[in-house]
Amino acid sequence: MKPPRILIVEDNPMNMELATDLLEVAGFTVLSATTAEDGLVLASTEQPDLILMDIGLPGMDGLEATRRLKQNHATTHIPVVAVSASVMSGDEAKAFVAGCCAYISRPIDTRQFAKLVAGYLVAKPQAESAS
Ligand code: MN
Repeated sequence: MKPPRILIVEDNPMNMELATDLLEVAGFTVLSATTAEDGLVLASTEQPDLILMDIGLPGMDGLEATRRLKQNHATTHIPVVAVSASVMSGDEAKAFVAGCCAYISRPIDTRQFAKLVAGYLVAKPQAESAS
């Protein structure tokens, strides 16, 4: 079985490095984009298994990027997990409205991060087709 592929959309280099390291150590393959625009292109062409979406991005923000991912039939099936600083109140509710399936607040728990992400992979929103 191929390792799950995670697309990280994140403009902060330190946040990107930390998340990438934690996921790669756990056996994931990581793709990265530093802008929403690049993230949308990569999501469509690379079809990752999950997207970690920073809310605060230069230009188009993570909420708008998520809305576009959900409106595009080529990417609507890919689960999007929002990532934002916990002090940004209101982001969590906005993320769900935009179409995110989960929300991770920063600072991330480095011991649990990869496990959290793995859990969101299993709980894909389109699993409702069964039963
Ligand atoms: Mn950011």
